Amino acid sequence: MKILKKPEWLKVRLSGTEHFATTKKLIGEYGLNTVCRSAMCPNLQECWSSGTATFLLLGDVCTRSCRFCAITASATQLPLPSDDEPRKIAHAVRRMQLNHVVLTSVTRDDLSDGGSAAWAETIKAVRGENPDVTIECLIPDFEGKYEDLDRVMSLKPDVLNHNVETVPALYDSVRPQADYFRSLEVLRVAKRTYDLRTKSGLMVGMGETEQQVKKVLNDLAGIGCNHLTIGQYLQPSLRHFPVRSYVTPDCFERYRIYAHELGIQQVQSGPYVRSSYHAAETV
Ligand code: SF4
Ligand code: SF4
Repeated sequence: MKILKKPEWLKVRLSGTEHFATTKKLIGEYGLNTVCRSAMCPNLQECWSSGTATFLLLGDVCTRSCRFCAITASATQLPLPSDDEPRKIAHAVRRMQLNHVVLTSVTRDDLSDGGSAAWAETIKAVRGENPDVTIECLIPDFEGKYEDLDRVMSLKPDVLNHNVETVPALYDSVRPQADYFRSLEVLRVAKRTYDLRTKSGLMVGMGETEQQVKKVLNDLAGIGCNHLTIGQYLQPSLRHFPVRSYVTPDCFERYRIYAHELGIQQVQSGPYVRSSYHAAETV
């Protein structure tokens, strides 16, 4: 298959500052995982240079194998959650002087609680050591299990984020272990039962049509989603799902306006937008 050449609007990036080195050192010192590095995020230089990082809980190996994702997948031999991880993340948040922290995790379908207890411990530890920090939880679907969702949602994170990632027609080919309607239900429960600020996101450029994207935006608006991110999919390696198109800045703007008109209050839509990009601006 022919690999698409990157357009000009995807080539200009900022370089790192000395704050980048400090963030890198702290993350290394505590032995923490970040989705910034594990998912090969294109914004790493910019975010780490401004002291922003997204902490990855429960290891850096996922039980699922989404074809767009750079995180390593394995169905077996995943580490048990570390008792130390919540405390280390809480320390790192304090030392990085964060006002807003984004927590996420790999999906741990191998654990009986999906890792929800470790999630809860981390939220409590971060709050305990950083009472003023706002917390955004970018959660997995916990296979839709209400007791696991409750363990996290009942702690009332400031933002509850769960990405639908793509249009439902592409789930079988790029996200076979996930379920679009289950993901919508996670967001619906967060809003209806726990009255949380909700956020979701998707990547474009995987072969979806503009109409299909707009249908997703309607679905998200229909369940009261407050924040939305839309970014360009970038293929992490040759073995990953290929980029089918580079969506133009004009089209990103059309999505932004459309979502906004549907009532989604905060919409970030652009080639480099990622789920946690400029996340502090969402609270
Ligand atoms: Fe990390 Fe999110 Fe920034 Fe990417 S956009 S570098 S994942 S904080
Ligand atoms: Fe990556 Fe999440 Fe899919 Fe796991 S579930 S492979 S972390 S996108």
